[in-house]
Amino acid sequence: MESLFGDHEFLGKDSGNNFADIILPVPIPRMFTYKIPTNLKSQIQIGSRVMVQFGKKKVLTGIIGKVHNKPPQAYESKPILDVLEIEPSVNPLQIRFWVWMAEYYCCHIGEVMHAAVPSGLRLSSESKIQLNPNFDREESKYPLDFREEKILEALEKTEEISYEDCEKILGVKTIHPILKSLVAKEAILVYEKVLEKYTPKVETRIRLTGEIASNKTALEAVFAGVQGKPKQESILLKYLRDIPVFQKPQLNEKGVDKATLLEEGDSESSLKTLIKNGIFESFKVVVNRLPEEEPEKEPAQLSTTQQAAFDEIKTHYESKQTVLLHGVTGSGKTEIYIQLIREVMDSGSQVLLLLPEIALTTQIVSRLKKVFGSQMGVYHSKYSDNERVEVWNGVLSGRFSFVVGVRSSIFLPFDSLGMIIIDEEHEPSYKQFDPAPRFHARDAATMLAYFHQAKTLLGSATPSFESFFNANQGKYGYVEITHRFGYATMPQYHLADLAADRKKNLLKLDSTRMMREKIQAALDKQEQVLIFQNRRGYSPYIQCEDCGWTGQCVQCDVSLTYHQFAEEMRCHYCGYKEKVPQSCPACGSTQLTTMGMGTERIEESLSLLFPEARMGRMDLDTTRNKYGYQRLLDEFGAGQIDILVGTQMITKGLDFGKVTVVGIWDGDRILNFPDFRSGERAYQQITQVAGRAGRREVQGQVIIQSRNPDNDLYEKVIKGDYFEFFRQEMFDRKKFYYPPYVKLMKITTRHSDFKVSEKAAHALHREMANIAVKKIVLGPEKGIIARIKNQFQFESLIKLDRSGNTQTVFKDSLAKILEDLHSRPEFRSVRWIVDVDPS
Ligand code: ADP
Ligand code: ZN
Ligand code: ZN
Repeated sequence: MESLFGDHEFLGKDSGNNFADIILPVPIPRMFTYKIPTNLKSQIQIGSRVMVQFGKKKVLTGIIGKVHNKPPQAYESKPILDVLEIEPSVNPLQIRFWVWMAEYYCCHIGEVMHAAVPSGLRLSSESKIQLNPNFDREESKYPLDFREEKILEALEKTEEISYEDCEKILGVKTIHPILKSLVAKEAILVYEKVLEKYTPKVETRIRLTGEIASNKTALEAVFAGVQGKPKQESILLKYLRDIPVFQKPQLNEKGVDKATLLEEGDSESSLKTLIKNGIFESFKVVVNRLPEEEPEKEPAQLSTTQQAAFDEIKTHYESKQTVLLHGVTGSGKTEIYIQLIREVMDSGSQVLLLLPEIALTTQIVSRLKKVFGSQMGVYHSKYSDNERVEVWNGVLSGRFSFVVGVRSSIFLPFDSLGMIIIDEEHEPSYKQFDPAPRFHARDAATMLAYFHQAKTLLGSATPSFESFFNANQGKYGYVEITHRFGYATMPQYHLADLAADRKKNLLKLDSTRMMREKIQAALDKQEQVLIFQNRRGYSPYIQCEDCGWTGQCVQCDVSLTYHQFAEEMRCHYCGYKEKVPQSCPACGSTQLTTMGMGTERIEESLSLLFPEARMGRMDLDTTRNKYGYQRLLDEFGAGQIDILVGTQMITKGLDFGKVTVVGIWDGDRILNFPDFRSGERAYQQITQVAGRAGRREVQGQVIIQSRNPDNDLYEKVIKGDYFEFFRQEMFDRKKFYYPPYVKLMKITTRHSDFKVSEKAAHALHREMANIAVKKIVLGPEKGIIARIKNQFQFESLIKLDRSGNTQTVFKDSLAKILEDLHSRPEFRSVRWIVDVDPS
């Protein structure tokens, strides 16, 4: 790939370039070259949206990715039809980032564009029909039938009509053949009309009409007129209470929001009467969806430890782009971020703070909002599309020089980033699994920062081994904080032996005596308790006690998960669901029981054990709606819940002072999953959950229930000896060729026919084996789940040497191989999914 940044990157005047490569939203892995017509030359800029003809009859909108003077070799290029904007909405740095992402993650640049641009800004198109200007009814050699005549008649009256219009005109649904015939007779043109989807928010406002607002006598007359009409009088009085019309006429200009005016139950029809009588007038304005807020608080003063860490970070930045801040839970990393963000903003650059998905709805955002007010944009994945467009536009216009957001906020149109901070950088949810681009936001953000010549700060109490490895090698700067802020101390751990308690008959509803005692002690002191159950690799299901039957998904090779609340069984892969049967479908027995133990079950057990405690539960089920998560947290924060049971969600950055006990219901479940990262993940997860306990004066107590308390991972977590743990794990990773010593890629082959899928996967395997780079190709093996949504899956794992250009060579060859395989008729409908750095 040539550099995008030749001499002609910023245009705005005729650059002398004759061709432009356009990124189009089509599933073909490249850009397309078009001719730049002379009359458009001065308007062509990288990042501008343009209209081009694609194929014979389609008009598409795309984004200019590159301009140059090389005519395409394989085809005759068509001219660009129009430039849609004067100021490009995508800047050259973004395009450079997209190109990098498409290459690194082996996907199409059109897919990156699709992920990057909020759909409200994307152009969608609608087919429209126009008269062909070259068509001459008298001269035409083709006769038209009566339906075709009708369409032409309509077109002679208006310039363009839609498909729907045609249906109405003819009163039939199948208009396609008629239109096709008209196109063949060269009578009409069908083209795609560009529509903008973003809709600004419009507010109706009310104000006194000019005559009355400028004339006291007139206003008095109005009051006289509404005497005995209390409803109208009430509206008038309320308006005048808020708006001193004579002292501040400019306030009357702005008026008040209609909804607010009628908020206290005033009648809309009375307002209408007032408007009809020329007293009030109503008008519309475009307003921000994201409200203005003033900062209300100065940032906190850093402690000596925090200040030292801050200074160290800055010293590292003199020679390094990236710094890893390894600070124990509760060490006050957020306050350090705040100081850094301030500094970068004061210097005139932009800042991006990335947070894991779920953490965004919580405390940290309101903490930041208090300091930064509405200079800070929030980019949430639950935002509506219109809200996203407003954040996008806010970054473009300079309203937001600081954004805190989820992984997709790396695509916002920043043009001068000074720093990207990635909080909880070890979080697996930074990786996008589906759809492409399957990027890791931490790695992509580091690249983005490099393009901006900005700094990157990775923050975590339990760094990912990749990042720690880089720090260890001296590639990243490394700063450590080993103490909590203030008087808070690290929590105390207790291992509770499930098997031993069972033997001694001390187990009650799956809880050990230790667990019960610690919870009771906390409740006695009005302190709060968090109970954690790992979601991964586990779901409750229904089983027949007599024959062993379990419910299976009809489209996937997985058991259905039992949802007590809805009394149904659901597939977590495809959403298929059915009601729990009354009796076993296999043997007719009515002895159906719930297997496994979920958060629901734990909640139930605990309410039996502690009937006086107020319970709460936080999992996928209870947080499905937009505010579910926030509401539970608010209740917990307000002390309305004593024991909160939850999955991974309760571990993310929560800072509640009254939590003194954290219980890990089943520690073994965290240790056991078959993955080279299992040790790393277990260490992170236990430490993070435990880190919610005892964040103020009272020391936290962490109870881990286990059948196997001698497992030495527990010992390492309890000692908090991250470095020793890292060293041992690295020994294995090196020996067995795993990251960070190699680069991993996973390729999944998918087809609805088992045989085709298998054959395609083997064909791919043979081809990949021939690529001449240092590598190991494993597989193909049946996917861990062999069938999903009726597609059979095979997986290949590739381990690439990290040296030289191994990766580039392999990826380039792979692209050719896949193109080649796809062109074979037998494999035409096979799907290949490439995942770079799978996790
Ligand atoms: P971390 O992100 O490292 O887990 P936090 O930033 O959440 O830690 O800090 C833990 C607690 O200590 C928070 O309640 C925070 O408000 C408080 N805190 C941290 N630093 C300071 C400071 N310099 N001044 C006052 N309070 C602080
Ligand atoms: Zn399914
Ligand atoms: Zn049965």
